Amino acid sequence: MKIGNCLWEYRCHYPEDLKEAAKHMREDGFEAIDYSELCNVEGPLYTEDESKAKAFLEEEARILADAGLAISQIHGPWRYPPEDGTAKARAEWLSLMERGARMAIYLGTPYMVVHPLMPFGANSPENPAEVLRINAEHYTRLCDYAKEIGVTVCLENMPFPELPLAHVFQIIDFVDLIGKPNLKVCLDTGHANVCGTDIGEAIRMLGDRLAVFHIHDNDGKDDQHRLPGTGTANFGSMGKALAEIGFSGVLSSEARIGPKTPHKVFHAQARSMADTLTKIKENLYN
Ligand SMILES: [Zn+2]
Repeated sequence: MKIGNCLWEYRCHYPEDLKEAAKHMREDGFEAIDYSELCNVEGPLYTEDESKAKAFLEEEARILADAGLAISQIHGPWRYPPEDGTAKARAEWLSLMERGARMAIYLGTPYMVVHPLMPFGANSPENPAEVLRINAEHYTRLCDYAKEIGVTVCLENMPFPELPLAHVFQIIDFVDLIGKPNLKVCLDTGHANVCGTDIGEAIRMLGDRLAVFHIHDNDGKDDQHRLPGTGTANFGSMGKALAEIGFSGVLSSEARIGPKTPHKVFHAQARSMADTLTKIKENLYN
């Protein structure tokens, strides 16, 4: 197991110099990167010629590898509020997700994290059968495409308790229903906490469906992306469960310290987070 963090957290502190950002990330104790910036489909990586994006991402991966950082996962396209209500919008979204999958390969990682489509809105309980049908159609097509290029699609649990595809148990049922070997799960610990699910319990339920993590904390009510251990999520149950299922991937943070935090405070908090993740990894966190 390695511990990881979103590159963006460092890039916003060192915007002009990826080498410098990577150096600080390593010094703070991280070994792997979530290239979460690929969730933004408005940026040039999705809007400009793809050969340019490819060259840019391959160079990014080279600089990060030189600094001793592995890219463990990307975040695929995401927009909020969702715009998944029409077949036309979903077809466009599928094409952007396919591009996201190719960009994961340019960066050298097989894991792309995605969210369920929400055709009736984010926290709507409306028409659960139709929500499942639309997601099944979309993700079957995406997984078939992703398989050809060697990408595993990781569906994330959401912080919307009313949505028919949000809780960990619902994500598991969906993954089993689709039955594609390259459809796995991203366990978001903060989202699980908002849905009232214990982290250790979620890990045990997921077993080998679990591929990657988004680790962060909150008060159990809102999706706050706080540092692990500063909210109500039960991280004490995590280490034992990881050992039980034989997890060997990356414990990757999705906590937000923020671009406006002074450098010194930012690094102190990042190091404290790296310590927490290391304790969880070693099952020493209480
Ligand atoms: Zn997440």
